[in-house]
Amino acid sequence: MNKTLFIGGIWQSAASGAEFDTLNPATGVAHARCADADRQDVDEAVSAARAALESPSWAGISPSERARILWRIGDLIEEHAEELAQLETLDQGQPIGVSRMVSVKGAAEHFRYYAGWVTKLYGETAPMSFPNVLQYTKREPVGVCALITPWNFPLMIASWKIAPALACGNTVIVKPAEQTPMTTIRLVRLCHEAGIPDGVLNLLTGGPDAGRALVEHPGVDKVSFTGSTETGRAIVHASAGNLKRVSLELGGKAPSIVMPDADLDAAVTGCLQGALLNSGQVCAAYTRFYVHRSLADEFAERCAKVAAQMRLGPGSSEDTDLGPVVTGEHQAHVDALVRSGMDEGASLLTGGSRADRPGYFYQPTVFAGVRDDMRIAREEIFGPVLSILPYDEEDEVIARANDSEYGLAAAVWTRDVGAAHRVAGNVRAGTIYINMPNPVEASAPWGGYGSSGWGREMGSGAIDLYTEVKSVWTSLA
Ligand code: NAD
Repeated sequence: MNKTLFIGGIWQSAASGAEFDTLNPATGVAHARCADADRQDVDEAVSAARAALESPSWAGISPSERARILWRIGDLIEEHAEELAQLETLDQGQPIGVSRMVSVKGAAEHFRYYAGWVTKLYGETAPMSFPNVLQYTKREPVGVCALITPWNFPLMIASWKIAPALACGNTVIVKPAEQTPMTTIRLVRLCHEAGIPDGVLNLLTGGPDAGRALVEHPGVDKVSFTGSTETGRAIVHASAGNLKRVSLELGGKAPSIVMPDADLDAAVTGCLQGALLNSGQVCAAYTRFYVHRSLADEFAERCAKVAAQMRLGPGSSEDTDLGPVVTGEHQAHVDALVRSGMDEGASLLTGGSRADRPGYFYQPTVFAGVRDDMRIAREEIFGPVLSILPYDEEDEVIARANDSEYGLAAAVWTRDVGAAHRVAGNVRAGTIYINMPNPVEASAPWGGYGSSGWGREMGSGAIDLYTEVKSVWTSLA
């Protein structure tokens, strides 16, 4: 029996005894079994998290001590960096270099960044017109937080949520995606080793049922969710019972606008990087390439040439450029959208099918002559697929870039500073990248407009998500 639930400081199996397999996407073979949590386990985890919220070992801990524990988690992640990177690659499929430099490094940095915030959670005082009144604000924890994460960057996204939630004094139940639970399990062990008290950080491995039970539970005060827009909508409805605080990081369909004066070498390299990191399984992946008509053919040809030369292989090989996608089901989803592109008349320049090898590989695929109404230009593919759409005028391209339900990220490529900032100001997206691919960093806010979500993670935005502001009035009379 696999004890992958961590509740009140104890590693345990699911109360029902149910389990599920997690697969290596590079082979399709199961490499571990995990406990499959249900409502009963959720009840137990919520009780443990509620009890820990008021416990002196957490509520009574000094800010400097809490900061030290978070910093120590960052150190432990770094000490176990190679082990965590190999595990992320085995479970998720990403190339080992991405695991090391993006996932593990990003996770450690998040704990260190929010360790710094613990001692700086200041309140404010307001000038009051009432006579003889002193007013001040305090930031208090929201309470029990359910953190539900997706499969594309499991370790890093768990850290985006756990680090600020703990920094603000909350207690936590984290539920990783059922496809990729392994690094979150390891992270929770490291948090415990660093000194997070029992009951403060609980872990439930399991699927959508465990997620639903958490979201509906009246003992949960806040849900922080990263995943698909469809699930995000279901969460908004399900969390209405006790009006939980809800923050959502959802899907994207990022436009990347290549203006006529762009440095084409930099644009081709940066656009491919922004499109194909982790086989395009990135919420901010560049997918709609609006390229000025004067450059569109050359840009398309060069992208297709580089994409066709990329080395597909298991993430564990140091020379792999593109790993597999996460599951056979997801591979079929990518393939169905690629077929729709061909059926709707886009011209396929390279790729266009599954790779002929075991595991869930998909060839990097470039389409030219894509129209805005095609499914490949509108729906989130979340795979290694680029669509090139020519444009003529700046106003036109801004309107077309904004004609999407999503608004997570966008890019613009130009040497003209004025044009860069006009586009940055007019495109509706939470993050705009000028002449660069699409990294994230703990200090810069992250989140989307429209159907890309609610709220901002990272930076000071996450402090707002994980605290309630209390206003205290005092008579000085
Ligand atoms: P998903 O919505 O299928 O699942 C995400 C998590 O939600 C999993 O843990 C799953 O078990 C759980 N879940 C499923 N149904 C649930 C329900 N009804 N109630 C509660 N929990 C439920 O998403 P996915 O396929 O794992 O991830 C891919 C999606 O995530 C893409 O759409 C991508 O754009 C998005 N994403 C967004 C960001 C961002 O920062 N905006 C980052 C990464 C991924």
